[in-house]
Amino acid sequence: MSKNLSVVITGAGGFIGGHLVNHFRRMGVKNIRAADIKPLDEWYQVFRDVENFAGPIRGDCRDFKVCRKLCDGADEVYQLAADMGGMGFIENNKALCMLSVLTNTHMLLAAQEAGVGRFFYASSACVYNAEKQKNPNITALREADAYPGLPEDGYGWEKLFSERMCRHFREDFGIRTRVARFHNVYGPNGTWEGGREKAPAAICRKVIAAVVSGKHEIEIWGDGTQTRSFMYIDDCVRGINLITHSDILEPINLGSSELVSINQLVDIAEDIAGVKLKRHYKLDAPRGVAGRNSDNTKIVGYLKWEPDTRLRVGMEKTYRWIYDEFTAKYNAKTAHLSSVSTFTKGSHPIPGDGFNPESKFMDTWTQGIPAGYGERAPAKKAAKGKKPAKAAAKGKAKKGAKPARKAARR
Ligand code: NAD
Repeated sequence: MSKNLSVVITGAGGFIGGHLVNHFRRMGVKNIRAADIKPLDEWYQVFRDVENFAGPIRGDCRDFKVCRKLCDGADEVYQLAADMGGMGFIENNKALCMLSVLTNTHMLLAAQEAGVGRFFYASSACVYNAEKQKNPNITALREADAYPGLPEDGYGWEKLFSERMCRHFREDFGIRTRVARFHNVYGPNGTWEGGREKAPAAICRKVIAAVVSGKHEIEIWGDGTQTRSFMYIDDCVRGINLITHSDILEPINLGSSELVSINQLVDIAEDIAGVKLKRHYKLDAPRGVAGRNSDNTKIVGYLKWEPDTRLRVGMEKTYRWIYDEFTAKYNAKTAHLSSVSTFTKGSHPIPGDGFNPESKFMDTWTQGIPAGYGERAPAKKAAKGKKPAKAAAKGKAKKGAKPARKAARR
């Protein structure tokens, strides 16, 4: 990859996007635009030597005008922005997950319009047919197993649709799109609490909470037998780079093939912490499919490489980072507060933890609709007798505002 290329990374305030920006910086790429809807102070990693487009005005990639600005003069686009989280989030926020279709559509359109050379799209193992993931002792998923389509409801359907849109943009418009299906990525500088975190980070946090509080117990979602593979972040960014600059035209697995059960993942975290915890299984919690692993035959065939960081090694680094974050925020008396499960419906109306009821963008954020997208509904269309979202939050009505998300749903 040439160091003089101009590169755009969306979702750069998030976990993988932040690492990808750093990866390209380290390679010496000089022109990097990093975009995220979150304000800069909520990004996991901020680099002052790149051009940062942060917040709902400059960084919301659902907004076509923002996408155009980002793609203008760019050589490569890495489309990682998405409203997503672990199973608790995606099972309870399907509409929000599907709204990422706006981001993918507008970024693709803007990239094509600007004549961008390569477009990378971050898809997910959630596109795979649920029927093929009912058994914890699964055979690993091959790329062909995405069809016939029966993906994860909401989040997975959107990913499958956007994958196909990338394919048709390539076939019909000639833009070189590349698609990787990530299988659970973990590592430092990612979400570790608040409801959007994934299993490795959640388990590290729970083990750390037990250590810090001295209460040697842990709550596990499901019965712990569900199996997964987990890819360390360094492998993920390396894979993104390799796939984008390859001739791999079809969506391809990017994941580790080291399969473990959630119980085994807890064993690893306990071993790192040097404790043994009493396990409580929360059987009604979101748990996702019974088993999922990545079949890496194709990626090895194409690249002679596959993600190969051992889970124990990656978990050690992740645990250490979360430990520092945790102890900076909680102590023995407050550690129990970190274990509050926040996977209730609509509990995370905007990406990140920066939910700010005082924000002037509150009425659009609460509905998950981008600022400036389409026209506001006339006041008479608002649900009868309900206060508009912003006004309800502030206790006074505002002309022309849309109804609160929950009120409108009823
Ligand atoms: P993340 O939540 O840490 O990062 C995503 C970022 O996108 C967030 O910072 C969020 O603020 C931003 N974003 C959301 N909507 C946006 C918008 N409209 N405009 C601009 N930015 C917006 O998640 P991640 O783990 O870094 O995931 C990155 C990508 O990889 C996502 O597309 C995700 O679906 C995909 N993926 C991740 C995993 C995983 O295990 N982490 C697995 C499969 C697929």
